[in-house]
Amino acid sequence: MSRFSARNAIVTGGARGIGAAIAEALVKEDISVVIADLLEHEGCEVARKLGSTAKFCRLDVTDDANWRIVIDEAEEAFGPLAILVNNAGILDFGGIETQSPVMFRHVVDVNLYGAWLGMHLAAPRLRAGGGGVIVNISSTAGLLGYAGIGGYVASKWGLRGLTKAAAIELGPAGIRVCSVHPGPIHTPMTAGLDASVAATQPLARFGEPEEVAAMVRFLITEATFSTGSEFVLDGGATAGQALPLPNAS
Ligand code: NAD
Repeated sequence: MSRFSARNAIVTGGARGIGAAIAEALVKEDISVVIADLLEHEGCEVARKLGSTAKFCRLDVTDDANWRIVIDEAEEAFGPLAILVNNAGILDFGGIETQSPVMFRHVVDVNLYGAWLGMHLAAPRLRAGGGGVIVNISSTAGLLGYAGIGGYVASKWGLRGLTKAAAIELGPAGIRVCSVHPGPIHTPMTAGLDASVAATQPLARFGEPEEVAAMVRFLITEATFSTGSEFVLDGGATAGQALPLPNAS
């Protein structure tokens, strides 16, 4: 089976963190990338560093009209759209009793509705071009529950389920849809988290954005028989627990 060879991608949330690393990894594969983000200064700077096959477009993933403009701009700049990476996301701390209703809705709006809107508007373009790949960046919070971030957990479980529904619908059109589930990764999003967050993992460290980008690059270019599947990179956090058993080594 040959590698997937389409050459035009949109990466949301590409101005920094994991999204910027994904954009860089794709440009290294000769894939043109529109970096779509709220952060204009950071996004333009990433695009400038990556060169002429990268371009920044301002995007709020919750805005329908904004998405339409960005998809048109991506096709004008680099040809038929074939790849969408729904990476933009936000994290808000707050328990079931304490998170504000406004913030719960905002987290779900960006992390889940924003990704749905992207697929809703981009899938017809991918279909028209004969196929493509969509990668949705979920989290281990889409595989497990965590206290204190219920809105985030709900959004990431939702994105995992939505990925499967989209994969079933779009597979016959030659469009693969997969979800990626990172554990804690060194980015601005996790800058305030203590290192102890990763301490009980088999690999007791934070991951790096480039490690997530390598998985996304693999899914796009190599994983030609994978769709509707979850790809986990979490230092073993979801493998289980080391129990304090007697005589266990
Ligand atoms: P980050 O905060 O460093 O970057 C997120 C980017 O998304 C920012 O550039 C931000 O401006 C952009 N963004 C936020 N709201 C947006 C909107 N409405 N429209 C367009 N862009 C918007 O975070 P990150 O750690 O790089 O996270 C990237 C993705 O990976 C997120 O979906 C996050 O939930 C997920 N993730 C991160 C980790 C981690 O530990 N860092 C772990 C698992 C999953």
